Amino acid sequence: MFRQLKAFIFQDHLEESEAKQVCVLLRLTAIVMCTYFLCLAGILFFIGSNLGVWLSLILLFSFGALCMSIGHTNHRFLTRCTFFLMITWMILYFYEYGWDFGTQHFVFVLVVMAFTIYRGSLRGKFGIALLSSTVWLFLFICRFQFHLKAKFPLDVRTDNILHIVNTFFVFAALSSLMLAFTRESLEMQQRLKRQASIDPLTGLLNRRGMQEYLSRELDAYQEGTISRFSMAMGDIDFFKRVNDVYGHECGDLVLKTLARLFREEMKQIGAVSRWGGEEFLFSFHDYGKDQALPVLQRLQQKLTQLEIPYKNNRLKITMTFGLVEFDYRHNMDYSIDEADKKLYCGKESGRNRIIH
Ligand code: GH3
Ligand code: MG
Ligand code: MG
Repeated sequence: MFRQLKAFIFQDHLEESEAKQVCVLLRLTAIVMCTYFLCLAGILFFIGSNLGVWLSLILLFSFGALCMSIGHTNHRFLTRCTFFLMITWMILYFYEYGWDFGTQHFVFVLVVMAFTIYRGSLRGKFGIALLSSTVWLFLFICRFQFHLKAKFPLDVRTDNILHIVNTFFVFAALSSLMLAFTRESLEMQQRLKRQASIDPLTGLLNRRGMQEYLSRELDAYQEGTISRFSMAMGDIDFFKRVNDVYGHECGDLVLKTLARLFREEMKQIGAVSRWGGEEFLFSFHDYGKDQALPVLQRLQQKLTQLEIPYKNNRLKITMTFGLVEFDYRHNMDYSIDEADKKLYCGKESGRNRIIH
């Protein structure tokens, strides 16, 4: 039951343009409000206030309908409907049951909604906040300046019970709004961070992602968690020819196929990144140069066995590598530079080899 409710709240929005976060927040608020009006209808039925029961039921169904149409209808329209419903209900209940009933406290929910759900301009958000505080002040003046009496005065016990119920639901609405908002913001942050360090073509770490990985490796090395680590710069031989002969699309296919192979081979060993166009930087976690060399040799072996089908062709690819072990006397850039220099030597001396 709880799982189904959670799935309903967090279900993906159906329209591409609707922000999922807004749908989730609106759904949560609507569900809290439905529960609130159900409780309210029960209490008011118990004390014999028929008008209050009907109003609560109408509001319960209004929020229910709102909840069901989230994701199908424009969220801006739905947000405005929610604001309108809440303000109307606050004024009506104040008129019927007076200030002590406590519905005016829901203006705080409105203010939080304005700054989390409402996707209008900043001016619009402040406008809603101002409107909410005006409603609060208006009710306050009616009560204390004009001594407006409730149409249906409640006894002290019922007043206290309703005050507790209202306080509880104000906090429930505020907490659920903030919880969903914080959760979505954190997810968004993580998603953006992931996207920023991943190469979209190959799905490997990009240069930035690898730099972060290497700085973590360096920390581990300085803390003594690992005693060494190695790096290899690999570059596809005559890749320009692949593009020139078979086209850019084929070049992309080669990059993706190689990336898949590298990821598979490096899974338990360290990390691999697309350092530049057709250059890949490999990092071997807690591996000295002597242990990293057989790994690269196996990789090269697999490369020689690999045939990449493209249209009616089967492409064979070779690569040249420069392998170094991190030198504690220098910084990270120095070691990467060294790997690059060795790679260049490999190219000079005929390609398809590992220089270490
Ligand atoms: P070498 O053996 O000396 O490395 O020769 P090469 O042809 O591989 O070297 P070069 O640096 O001259 O060419 C690299 C080519 O990689 C040039 C560029 O068009 C291609 N390239 C870089 N990024 C991409 C990419 O994302 N997709 C495709 N298809 N090609 C790319
Ligand atoms: Mg190349
Ligand atoms: Mg290159």
